[in-house]
Amino acid sequence: MRYSALSLLKNALSGHKNWQPLWRDDNPKDGYDILIIGGGGHGLATAYYLAKEFGITNVAVLEKGWIGGGNVGRNTTIIRSNYLLPGNIPFYELSMQLWEDLEQDINYNAMISQRGVLNLYHSDGQRDAFARRGNAMRLHGVDAQLLDVGEVLRLVPHLNVEDARFPILGGLFQPRGGTVRHDAVAWGYARAAGARGVSIVQNCEVTGFNISNGKVFGVETTRGPINAGRIGVAVAGSSGLLAQMAGLKLPVESHVLQAFVSEALKPVINTVVTYGAGHFYISQSDKGGLVFGGDLDGYNSYAQRGNLATVEDVCEGAISMMPALGAARILRHWGGIVDMSMDGSPIIDKTPVDGLYLNAGWCYGGFKATPASGLAFAHLLAREVSLEEAAAYRLDRFGEGALLDEKGMGAQPNLH
Ligand SMILES: Cc1cc2nc3c(=O)[nH]c(=O)nc-3n(C[C@H](O)[C@H](O)[C@H](O)COP(=O)(O)OP(=O)(O)OC[C@H]3O[C@@H](n4cnc5c(N)ncnc54)[C@H](O)[C@@H]3O)c2cc1C
Repeated sequence: MRYSALSLLKNALSGHKNWQPLWRDDNPKDGYDILIIGGGGHGLATAYYLAKEFGITNVAVLEKGWIGGGNVGRNTTIIRSNYLLPGNIPFYELSMQLWEDLEQDINYNAMISQRGVLNLYHSDGQRDAFARRGNAMRLHGVDAQLLDVGEVLRLVPHLNVEDARFPILGGLFQPRGGTVRHDAVAWGYARAAGARGVSIVQNCEVTGFNISNGKVFGVETTRGPINAGRIGVAVAGSSGLLAQMAGLKLPVESHVLQAFVSEALKPVINTVVTYGAGHFYISQSDKGGLVFGGDLDGYNSYAQRGNLATVEDVCEGAISMMPALGAARILRHWGGIVDMSMDGSPIIDKTPVDGLYLNAGWCYGGFKATPASGLAFAHLLAREVSLEEAAAYRLDRFGEGALLDEKGMGAQPNLH
């Protein structure tokens, strides 16, 4: 079914009784050419691009829960390509360009809103670092503007610039950054992949790999064994667990990250703002809720819920950046499990097990990467070589010490 103004009218006139399900809820077959483990944004996008770009449709996405139940439906919806390092900028800019065409490409409204992303700076040193980042972006053809405090206030009038403990001096602004409705991305990719013949199998947990002579030939699942010569793992916060099943140890730790939504308010913030003197980021959804988040909870965990100390910490960041936020009530908050790599950058690569491929290490920022990650992982699975824009995301860089450390934090995953 194609969405259009005409289909909307036809379905409205027939009482909305004839809309089709977005995707088939398939039963698993005995075997496929390619299996993707994980029905999050990255797994679904991979399946879609395998079908669309490489004509490979005998593919199944195996999801242990339901589509959209993982981080793809739990994140704070921010997209941007404001990176510094040459290994990262082209990849995230490719993702931004794919976002810009996504709704037409998959014929699905993902509510992509390029309302801009503003990173605040609070010291001369931070301004210099942001100027450097902005220059690196512009050298790669990415939009970036360094704003002074007056320009920042015109964008976000309620910021606390006067008697703040960390005064706001300005900001680095990427106008093309913004937000995307996160669960619509999962639904849209699932629908588009399913329409091209990919099987979407929910409630199917992978419990082990069948490996012989160093080559994988299938998986064990809660719905029986399934064979495939090529298997892509895209399970985000569960990456370490899946790798362990294949006898591998990854340079990745799993941590809880929480997100928050306030009661609906009249428009108060019309861009995405990040605080530079603490870890805090906020935007306002089209429904009026303030959507915000901050730091990790700070300990390794596979629990999709966080603790109150972090709630307090995030709210302190909010109020010190914009005191008026203290009057808003939190409506709900939740946690997701993020796969923090040792250098803060992702991995899209083959593994030492022949036929087993890995997509992991997305840290705080894998949602914005969803389209490019899917395309790059599909490219690797189909062609056995990396997409040029993702060539830096090798697994062996950790062994060689050739890290891609965007924040310069060293091998401390919780700080990236
Ligand atoms: C609170 C929070 C806020 C965030 N905010 C942002 C943001 O603003 N911008 C941004 O760019 N990024 C953000 N992120 C990060 C981003 O959401 C993730 O990096 C990204 O969604 C991970 O990829 P995914 O969508 O494929 O993951 P997921 O949606 O988690 O998909 C992985 C899937 O694998 C499944 N799975 C796990 N084990 C198995 C198994 N054994 N068998 C079968 N299936 C299995 C899981 O059930 C899950 O559905 C945020 C993350 C969180 C938690």
